Amino acid sequence: MIEIENVHKSFGRLEVIRGVSMAVDKGEVVSIIGHSGSGKSTLLMCINGLEPIQQGSIRVDGVDAHARGTDLNKLRQRIGIVFQQWNAFPHLSVLENVSLAPRKVLGKDRHEAEEIAVRQLSHVGLQDKMNVSPGKLSGGQQQRMAIARALAMSPQYMLFDEVTSALDPQLAGEVLDTMRMLSQEGMCMIVVTHEIRFARDVSDRVAFFRNGVIHEIGPPEQVIANPQKPETIDFLKSTR
Ligand code: ADP
Ligand code: MG
Repeated sequence: MIEIENVHKSFGRLEVIRGVSMAVDKGEVVSIIGHSGSGKSTLLMCINGLEPIQQGSIRVDGVDAHARGTDLNKLRQRIGIVFQQWNAFPHLSVLENVSLAPRKVLGKDRHEAEEIAVRQLSHVGLQDKMNVSPGKLSGGQQQRMAIARALAMSPQYMLFDEVTSALDPQLAGEVLDTMRMLSQEGMCMIVVTHEIRFARDVSDRVAFFRNGVIHEIGPPEQVIANPQKPETIDFLKSTR
């Protein structure tokens, strides 16, 4: 599980995470919603050790992500992350892009790495696109390639940061369907999203972020369908 305890994070004098605690169990899907600038992306970066924290702790399966001596490469293998945009290597095929990390990071030989890539690209419905260059893919296909690339490392957890916000609704839908499939397979996911309907349908819990704290957290039946705090109500109104 991922255990986030009283995390504080500043950029210079600006404190953007101001005491966040949350535990995410294996198999759970937690969505994070909230205004832009509330610290959602920063929290994801802290979880996989891409950004240092000033106070508190983050444990991933018991391993302190920010302790001196923690092997960050190993930690990041356990946690796949997909961003709004991922710049694939344009001169490599889709298959080569997805098999790169298993080769370079996991030390798989080309044959084995490509087998993994084929499996994960098929998993996200891109079996017909393996040999094209990434530039030939639609935005939705590019995001599914990015998901396949993360899955190729056999992560225990997946973090998603507004992976559909650059896509028009139809292409967003195919990416959300892929994420829904992963959740049904039991993947543990933390999903930062503007897609309130997705958060409502797929999440076990929803956290509403506000000014660097979790303002309200609970099952979607509460936070989305019956929010308890006026600020949550206002935020949800602003997304309609
Ligand atoms: P969200 O993802 O909720 O929109 P972010 O986590 O991206 O919010 O940003 C939270 C705050 O931290 C914002 O005020 C943003 O400007 C600031 N911030 C984010 N990244 C950096 C950085 N690398 N350096 C300085 N300030 C940053
Ligand atoms: Mg963000």
